[in-house]
Amino acid sequence: MFRQINKFAKTNSEFLSLRPRYTQDVKELRGSVDMAIDWEATHGLLMQAPKLSHAISNADWVQTALVPAPVSLAPSPIPRAEFEKVVALQPVLNQLFDSIARDHDFLVSTLESLGTADEFTTRIFSMYMKQYVMKVEKPAVVGIHRSDYLIHAPANEPDASPQAKQVEFNTIASSFASLSAIVGDFHRFMLERTGFQGLLKEGQVEMNQLPENESLTSIGDGIAVGFELYGTPSAVVAMVIQPDERNVYDQRWIEERLWKRHNIRVVRLSFADILDQCSIREDNRLFAGDTEIAVAYYRAGYAPTDFPTEKEWEGRWLVEKSRAIPIPNLAYHLAGCKKIQQVLAQPGVVERFVSDEETARRVRECFVGLYPLDDSEEGQQAYEMALKSPANYVAKPQREGGGYNSYGEDIPKLLCGMSVEERRGYILMELIKAPGFDSMLLRNGQLVPAEVVSELGIYGIWVSDSKGDMVVNRHGGHLLRTKASNVHEGGVAAGFAVIDSPLLV
Ligand code: ADP
Ligand code: MG
Repeated sequence: MFRQINKFAKTNSEFLSLRPRYTQDVKELRGSVDMAIDWEATHGLLMQAPKLSHAISNADWVQTALVPAPVSLAPSPIPRAEFEKVVALQPVLNQLFDSIARDHDFLVSTLESLGTADEFTTRIFSMYMKQYVMKVEKPAVVGIHRSDYLIHAPANEPDASPQAKQVEFNTIASSFASLSAIVGDFHRFMLERTGFQGLLKEGQVEMNQLPENESLTSIGDGIAVGFELYGTPSAVVAMVIQPDERNVYDQRWIEERLWKRHNIRVVRLSFADILDQCSIREDNRLFAGDTEIAVAYYRAGYAPTDFPTEKEWEGRWLVEKSRAIPIPNLAYHLAGCKKIQQVLAQPGVVERFVSDEETARRVRECFVGLYPLDDSEEGQQAYEMALKSPANYVAKPQREGGGYNSYGEDIPKLLCGMSVEERRGYILMELIKAPGFDSMLLRNGQLVPAEVVSELGIYGIWVSDSKGDMVVNRHGGHLLRTKASNVHEGGVAAGFAVIDSPLLV
C-alpha cells in the first residue's frame, strides 16, 4: 500500500496525508540496499567507524573501519513553501547574528544574566572579554552558520498550514554540509534508477521535487573569501578538529574545494596541536612551524569535552589573540548560545537589530515560545508552566552537540532538583510538533524501517571585512537529518539520525 505523494501541501491535513506509509518487506529491498551502499562507496559518502583500540595508525584500521554514512533510502517530505521561506530568510538571519555579535553591550548583559552556573559558557565569555579589552585586530569576520527547523504540523489543527519553526541557530562547527549535498545526488540517482520502487509510489516523485544543494561548495567558497581578505597567498587554512573525529570525509570535501577551486592548502590541527606547534610572530601572525595560518575553521570547540585540559584552552586562546581569522570568532560563538535565542524572542529585541518591520515579522514567524527560567517574573511564570504541563516544553542548558535537553516528565524532575542560580543557565522552549512518517534508514549496512521526524537545516555564509562591511551574505544550501520519532534527539554522529534530503511537497 502506498500513499500518493502530491506536489503541494497547503494545510496540515494535506501534509499529513502525503506522508509515506511503508508496508514493504525489508527483504524485497535488498537490491536497492546493495545499490545504495556501492553508490555511497563510489561517491565518498563515508564516515569512519569508532577507532579500533589496537590501531596505531590510520593505515592500520582504515580498511576495516570505513563505513558508508547513515542515510535514508528515499527522501522525506517537506512543504515546498516552507522550504523556500527559510532559504530566503537565511541572509536576514546572517545579518541579524552579525549585528548581535557586534553589539558588545547586548552580549554582555544577556550573558551576564546566565550567572556563572554554566562553567563552559562562562569561560568562553571571559575569553571574549579578555580579547575585547586587548582590541585584537582581525582582517575579516567569517560566519558559517546553520539554522535548524522542524515542521510544526499538529494533527489536531488540520486546517492550519504547516510551518517551519526554528529549533536553534548554530554558529559553530555546523557539520554535514558536504555529505548532505551528496545524499541529494544519491536520492536523484535512486529516483532515476529505481523510481523508489517499493518505497514511494512509482511515478509520483518528479526530479524537480528534489532541490539542488550548494552545500558541497558553499562552505569552502566562504572560507576562501575570508582567506583572501587576510591577504597572504602563501598562508594556509587550519581545520581545527577533534582528535577522535569520525566525520572526517565531510571535512575533507571542504578541503578538496579549497584546494581544487581556490588553490588554498588546509592543515588539520587539534587545539592541543595548536599549542604544541604554533607560535605568534611579527605583526601578531600565527605560524605552525614556518607556515602562516590565515584562517582557523573550528570543527571543535563547542563542547566542554573539546577542552579536557588547560592545553586546549591555551591552544584556542593562541588563535583568538593572533591575527588569524577564527570561524567563528568568540562573539559569534556566544551569539549562538541558547540564551541569546531566548532573549531574541522577547518583545522588541529582534526589532533592536532589524529595523524593517516586515523583515522582523518574517524572523519572528519562525519562533516558538521561548522563556527564561531565572528569578525574573517571566522566569517564575515559565517555571510554573513547565511544572504544570511539561509535555508542551523542552528545557535546554547552554550546550551544543545533542543529548542535553530535557522533555516531558523529566523537566519537573530537573527543575525541582536545581537552585534558582542553577536554573538561570537554562531556557524553556515550547515543543514543536513535527509529524512522524515512515522511512527506511540505512545504517551500518542494515535497513531499519522506522517512524521518523526530519529536521531541516539551512546553511548561511557571511563574510565581512576589517571595517565590518559585508562582503558575502548568502544561504549555503541545506541539510535534512532524519531520526526515529521515539528518540527525542541525537545527531548523525551520535548514531541516532541519518542524513536525508527533502522531497518538496
Ligand atoms: P543541540 O545544540 O544539542 O543540537 P538543539 O536545540 O538543536 O540542541 O536540540 C537538540 C534536538 O532536540 C533537536 O535536534 C530536536 O530534535 C530536539 N528539539 C530541540 N528543541 C525542540 C523543540 N522546541 N521542539 C521539539 N524538538 C526539539
Ligand atoms: Mg541542534
